[in-house]
Amino acid sequence: MKRFEDSTVVITGGNKGIGFALAQRFVEEGARVVVASVDADVEDAAARLDAPDRARGFHCDVTDKSQVEALYGFASAEFGGVDVSVQNAGIITIAKVEDLTEGEWDATLAVNTKGVFLCCQEAIRRMRAQGTGGRLINTASGQARSGFIYTPHYAASKFGVVGLTQSLAKEVALDGITVNAICPGIIETDMWDYNDRVWGKMLGDYGPGELMQAWVQNIPMKRAGRGSDVAGLVAFLASDDAAYITGQTINVDGGLIMS
Ligand code: NDP
Repeated sequence: MKRFEDSTVVITGGNKGIGFALAQRFVEEGARVVVASVDADVEDAAARLDAPDRARGFHCDVTDKSQVEALYGFASAEFGGVDVSVQNAGIITIAKVEDLTEGEWDATLAVNTKGVFLCCQEAIRRMRAQGTGGRLINTASGQARSGFIYTPHYAASKFGVVGLTQSLAKEVALDGITVNAICPGIIETDMWDYNDRVWGKMLGDYGPGELMQAWVQNIPMKRAGRGSDVAGLVAFLASDDAAYITGQTINVDGGLIMS
């Protein structure tokens, strides 16, 4: 039997990048998966997964409580419950401190921190009612370990994810629900392309891909990460093998940060 054959998994930001790789891993391992995103054709993304009969797409802005409730209601109605919830949706902008707008601050905290909380809140409500335990995995970042230049709002939002992960883990431990956070390093996605372009210009007029190449040299494994690297960790945290792990924040970055 495959590891997640009896499981329903919700993944926010699941239409592309890291989230799509997570969805692919869960369907390969037998799960029923709901991928959620805000703008994209998320139904099309679900149809591109290897098992479209066990995959659904749902439009949900994670900053909107009623849309988040609708997402988990949809997952329960389609597949009979929610066992694993991965709070992966995130945004970033990069700006010098004087140029960083209040709107950028608010939007980043809203998606990356409040959005994670709202999804955890609704998932926990349903998992407690089901009485079958559950797994919550929250996507933080290397920037939850150490702030980077020109992204104070993003770093604050991701440090916040670690705090809410620890607090919720303590509250739901006796319900058989674990709550953990992950810190990806440099992962090749659209978000990283943006980082490479904008940081690259601001930090020294690097051409396309050059900043990433320079930073990859700081990674002991000397390569950028792939979505599948992150999927290995997330699937482990969602599995029975991780039943005694909660409130933890785990790096998946080829050794870039060792704390
Ligand atoms: P992408 O930019 O490729 O994807 C971001 C996803 O988040 C998209 O699916 C997007 O949906 C979704 N999203 C954005 N805003 C909302 C919202 N309000 N409601 C619902 N969904 C939303 O990013 P990555 O795959 O690179 O990143 C995934 C996560 O990993 C993020 O939390 C990011 O901060 C984190 N991370 C990434 C790293 C990297 O190097 N790539 C490093 C460390 C952390 P849509 O397409 O519809 O807009």
